[in-house]
Amino acid sequence: MWRTIGQQSTVERLSRGVAEGITHHAYLFLGPKHVGKRTLAIDLACALNCIGDGVPCGACRACIRILDGKHADIHAITLDDVGSAEDLEIEEEGRKRRTRILTEQIEDLQHASTLPPYEGRFKVMLVEHADRMTNEAANRILKVLEEPPPQVVWMLLAENESRMLETVVSRCQRIDVREVPVAQLEGYLLEGYGASPEQAKLLARISRGRSGWALQALADETLLKERAGRLETAIQLLSMTYAARFEVSRELDAMYRRDPRSVIDTLDQWTTWGRDLLLVKTGCAENVANIDYIHDMNEQAQRLSLEQIRDYIGKLTEARRDLDLNLIARLVFDSLVYTMPRITMPARGPGVQPVVLQDRSETQ
Ligand SMILES: [Zn+2]
Repeated sequence: MWRTIGQQSTVERLSRGVAEGITHHAYLFLGPKHVGKRTLAIDLACALNCIGDGVPCGACRACIRILDGKHADIHAITLDDVGSAEDLEIEEEGRKRRTRILTEQIEDLQHASTLPPYEGRFKVMLVEHADRMTNEAANRILKVLEEPPPQVVWMLLAENESRMLETVVSRCQRIDVREVPVAQLEGYLLEGYGASPEQAKLLARISRGRSGWALQALADETLLKERAGRLETAIQLLSMTYAARFEVSRELDAMYRRDPRSVIDTLDQWTTWGRDLLLVKTGCAENVANIDYIHDMNEQAQRLSLEQIRDYIGKLTEARRDLDLNLIARLVFDSLVYTMPRITMPARGPGVQPVVLQDRSETQ
């Protein structure tokens, strides 16, 4: 059984391909973060190697070993594979290694792909964050995709097609992985994953239909705590003094050195907050993601003009782009927090903690 939630026509197409023996040598799974790209890729890897009934059965030796991450023919690389900050002597080099897929990682896969499958029918080379390859790594994979060995299937996972070489994209079978309609995801969480009605409703909404995020949040409370910390900061940031904003910039910079992706997640969460403010301001409050913060959202939306909200979202988008371009992080954060709109808010109720920037490395 495919574990993928939604994506019905895609699953049917891939399933048919496997049944008819039509396999492409490279697939590109494109879609937003946590939308379920990896689950779909692993489902396909199971389907290609399954030895049970009802491919992929999820119960045969091959499926179980793949799902446990123990199958000898499934090779995966991701940004996490390159060691923690402590292992890396030079900070700048360390940051690069945690934000880019490097040539040596691709070379390792390339080498593994030259050997025949060890225990299954197909070798699967899974490259997460394929839109975060260095130029050299992208050129290396291009060469690999030009002359693929038989019985090897490359699976590239990416969020942003425009960050990839066109020549790499054109050599892959493209699979778009989309958000699941919120009501449908709510049903899946409720019926298939043991969520309570309240949990299912909340997680479907705040994940904005990204099933991977919703399932992770259902299994691990840390994700919701991280989100709460980030939203708390987003809410306070707009009414902070410039001195307090300076502190936030300093904290973001320090966190970026340790865990760059945590900062990217923070900026994404703040952008979602901006989008919600825009929805409330334009009278579409029923579509907001952060439904549990509707009170704060209403208060802020009342005090901000449409222009200011657009500006807020624009500044966050700019900051993400500048980090991508490797501009000096501290300047990017300073520019972000000092140019955000500023509003006066009434004091919030007792018990509300001051700024909390959740740092993943400290919460684990
Ligand atoms: Zn199986």
